[in-house]
Amino acid sequence: MITHQFGIPVTSTGAILRRERDLGTPLGRETAEVLQSGGLVSDKIIIELIEDWLRLHGSHGFVFDGFPRTLPQAESLMSILARLRSALDLVVWLEVSEQTVVDRIAGRLQCGECGFTTSSSSAQFANRPVCPYCDGHLERRNDDDLGVLQTRLQEFRTKTEPLASYYEKISILHRIDGNRDREAVFSDISRLIEDTQ
Ligand code: AMP
Repeated sequence: MITHQFGIPVTSTGAILRRERDLGTPLGRETAEVLQSGGLVSDKIIIELIEDWLRLHGSHGFVFDGFPRTLPQAESLMSILARLRSALDLVVWLEVSEQTVVDRIAGRLQCGECGFTTSSSSAQFANRPVCPYCDGHLERRNDDDLGVLQTRLQEFRTKTEPLASYYEKISILHRIDGNRDREAVFSDISRLIEDTQ
């Protein structure tokens, strides 16, 4: 939605890794097991992916989804951006209850091509699982399983949650209630982006 409204290129490290896995590349084969288990891929691999992506696509702004997830990733991002004479304007922290996470994961359908995400409770997509943006196939993710979710939540609490205070200290973190529907959440995010422009 951000890309469509503001023309800012977006990338998701998770989506890159799933694509590599589906293509059967060496990187995809190396990381598939970690993705399936709900653990985090090594910082070294993730930082290389982001640096390559920024060099190719980052000159007109960027949105990262699912990155950074650890303090070393956040620190490396700062150094990469300083080298590229760029900077972070905004960090959006979507706050959701554990129940919301469980409900969304239980019904999540995702486009394998562009990452568009919806729910199997939406009749439009349950009957015809085709992406409205790129005609890709909407599918369940193989890590969207309640057992794997416990590992993902544990990784979040120990490695990702400390990033909130890291970004709060430099005053770029904004907390948004992500338990609401996507239009309400998007409207708050849009306002934040407009305020930085
Ligand atoms: P996501 O699509 O953001 O839910 O990510 C799916 C999976 O990809 C995660 O559970 C991790 O195994 C891996 N992954 C994605 N982004 C990162 C990251 N920034 N650091 C480490 N692992 C990641």
